Amino acid sequence: MSAPATPAAQRLAAVRERIAAAARAAGRDPASVALLAVSKTWPADDVRTLVALGQTAFGENRAQELTTKAAELADLPIEWHFVGQLQRNKAAAVARTGAVVHSVDRLPLARALSRAGEETGRPVGVFLQVDLGGAAGELAERGGADPADLPALADAVAALPCVRLRGLMAVAPRGEEPGPAFARLAALAERLRADHPEAAEVSAGMSGDLEEAIAAGATLVRVGTALFGSRPLASPRVTPVTGAPPRSPEEV
Ligand SMILES: *Cc1c(COP(=O)(O)O)cnc(C)c1O
Repeated sequence: MSAPATPAAQRLAAVRERIAAAARAAGRDPASVALLAVSKTWPADDVRTLVALGQTAFGENRAQELTTKAAELADLPIEWHFVGQLQRNKAAAVARTGAVVHSVDRLPLARALSRAGEETGRPVGVFLQVDLGGAAGELAERGGADPADLPALADAVAALPCVRLRGLMAVAPRGEEPGPAFARLAALAERLRADHPEAAEVSAGMSGDLEEAIAAGATLVRVGTALFGSRPLASPRVTPVTGAPPRSPEEV
């Protein structure tokens, strides 16, 4: 390409190169790692810019923001993903956007998604989110199922009529090296594949730790900051008219 690259194009190229380098270092095909652009807090126009550069998969972590952006960008062939904690009563709205849900950590939520899939006539792709805990073995409480509950949860979710179990998702615990945590995730993913061969995907790795995740076998990395820039911490949000609870800085 001869045209000078825009900042967005440069950031996208840099992230793609990080992914490719990490894959090669792990002896993996760079094409075996998908890039999910996490566009939470960024306006629809920033998503448009990346779509024009060839990025197709985008992730959001708030149901309201997802449905608004999906409607604004309905003219584009975007594959939406939902990566935030999801309340059961918002499952149908998320499913109607066609989003793949990465944060399924309990059966009632999976059941609600399956029901929504039956209504739209389109099975909902789901990842089971697992809590990788901390170094001391306690659960990190950033969402996610207890690893001990995973086999039973996977069996129950796989048996639902209108979800498609795709694999596992996790966020590295804070205050710990990501490598060992992602190694625990890899072991859980292998166990899941033994029971459910179709659930072979691993959603792990963000701007700060995608190399470690790819080394441990991630097939999809979820990248926000490195593509869009830093999100404002605790940004003042317009309170939705529906009276949803205020957003905590933790969720940003
Ligand atoms: C925000 C978010 C990301 C992206 O994080 P960055 O550090 O900005 O790349 C990935 N996964 C989840 C679940 C997120 O909420």
